[in-house]
Amino acid sequence: MRAVTFQLPGEVRVEEVPEPELERPDDTIVRIEASGICGSDLHIFHGRVPVEQGFTLGHEFVGTVIAAGPEVERVAVGERVLGCFRTACGTCAACVRGDYHRCVHGRTFGHGSKLGNLQGAQAERLLVPHANLTLRPVPEGMSAGVALFAGDVLGTGYHAIAHAGLRCGDTAAVLGLGPVGLCAVQAARAAGATQVFAVDTVPERLDMARRFGATPVHLTEEDPKRVVRAATGGAGVDVSVDAVGDPGPLALAVSLARDAGTVSGIGAYAGLGEVPLGLMWLKGLTIRAGLANVIAHVDRVLAMISAGLLDPSPLVTHHMSLDDAPAAYALFDRREALKIVLTP
Ligand code: ZN
Ligand code: ZN
Repeated sequence: MRAVTFQLPGEVRVEEVPEPELERPDDTIVRIEASGICGSDLHIFHGRVPVEQGFTLGHEFVGTVIAAGPEVERVAVGERVLGCFRTACGTCAACVRGDYHRCVHGRTFGHGSKLGNLQGAQAERLLVPHANLTLRPVPEGMSAGVALFAGDVLGTGYHAIAHAGLRCGDTAAVLGLGPVGLCAVQAARAAGATQVFAVDTVPERLDMARRFGATPVHLTEEDPKRVVRAATGGAGVDVSVDAVGDPGPLALAVSLARDAGTVSGIGAYAGLGEVPLGLMWLKGLTIRAGLANVIAHVDRVLAMISAGLLDPSPLVTHHMSLDDAPAAYALFDRREALKIVLTP
């Protein structure tokens, strides 16, 4: 079958790879209808996340179950499903607590041997382990391009807000308006945030945040701190989200939060960085960070999409053929697309 494989930093290729086969009793094989290209695929594309040459990429998908092991009970052969980007076993201590994102046996699709050695979804067919937890039926009438957001980007935006404990009537700021940041804006509004300040430098992204009900703030042409202070009576926001994952935006998130507010770090941090510890301490902030618990959120996210409270469809800027994946990665790398949906 055809699949998009990593070759070298800056090079992906569509090539023939072996067909997936059922390995365990709770596995399924899914025939892929659509898969997404994600910001985390770019980390692999650039070699920042090491993946073996020839490994199949992709972790956002919608498709149809074409084979299922005897222990698969929650989805059936012939059913249209969407997947979460990472699997969980359901039985380890973290899973029993409901912390599926910290499952000790968790495997991420399309991220090479270091993250579970699970081939990716940018392919014609996909092996899906622990299908009872990893897969959900696609609600009636939902397009593939919308449904695949629930298992990754929108689940992550939802997590940024839910994990921060945002309450109806709160104010929020979201720093970084990539797909996750824009989804966090939507989730904050849907959760009842009265004002959401959306900070970035890209005019199209600021425009989209405005369409989602946020107050756009240009990072360099305006002073986000002054804008937020002026609009909140000098207090700052209840919840500030760093959707970038760097020390700079985290420091800004700390400065935008009100006293005893919450900072939610949903971007992927790495290594060491400088954070204004004194300000954090003085303000008495709660800091929450880490990978999103998408398996715990996916049913609520799907229900919110169905109810019209969340709508990721404006984020889909390109539909392309799986065969055009090299061009799609180049386009995405030039930041000319928000979400590219590949169809085999
Ligand atoms: Zn992703
Ligand atoms: Zn587990």
